[in-house]
Amino acid sequence: MKTCINGNTLELITGDIIQQQTDAIVNAANGTLMGGGGVDGAIHRAAGQGLLAECKQVRKQQLNSDHLPTGEAVITGGYHLPAKYVIHTVGPVWNEHAADQETQLAACYRNSLELAMKNKASSIAFPSISTGVYRFPVDLAAKTALQTIIDFLKDDDFGSVVMVLFSEKDYQAYEAELNKILE
Ligand code: ADP
Repeated sequence: MKTCINGNTLELITGDIIQQQTDAIVNAANGTLMGGGGVDGAIHRAAGQGLLAECKQVRKQQLNSDHLPTGEAVITGGYHLPAKYVIHTVGPVWNEHAADQETQLAACYRNSLELAMKNKASSIAFPSISTGVYRFPVDLAAKTALQTIIDFLKDDDFGSVVMVLFSEKDYQAYEAELNKILE
């Protein structure tokens, strides 16, 4: 499904994010930036050792050796990936009693888009941040992700945003939420 927002495009596809030929792809990282399971592991495996080395440097130089806080984003090269850049962001771990996790998830998308734009990327691919190991309900994640992306595209001359869903079920959830927002 593809839609046009203020001259920008927003597309939903099923696929593997490591194959995307966008200027930037987004990694649903954890705060250590040292790789992990899920999409994070797939990106590090495909990009090669150079990515891990740069992540270590970013932690030391930009983060004072601390963890990347939830909702924030940093950028590295793409190394062996087709994408020029990887934007690493840390999604919230779902906790039904917490109040601010939609805000944190929205910050992941907004900060990633802003960082892409700052680096003159005009196309970006996102995975469904937080809906794997971090257990965020996919319908709520889809609503938050899409509304944040659309609000950004309404205000900015960006280019192209692709949401890469890893299963047909996730695709359908995102498609249903996008249709609701566009109604
Ligand atoms: P989180 O810890 O943020 O929940 P996960 O990597 O566990 O991150 O899952 C986030 C989403 O990414 C899930 O929907 C998962 O199915 C999906 N995913 C896993 N591998 C890939 C991939 N190679 N390309 C796109 N999406 C992927």
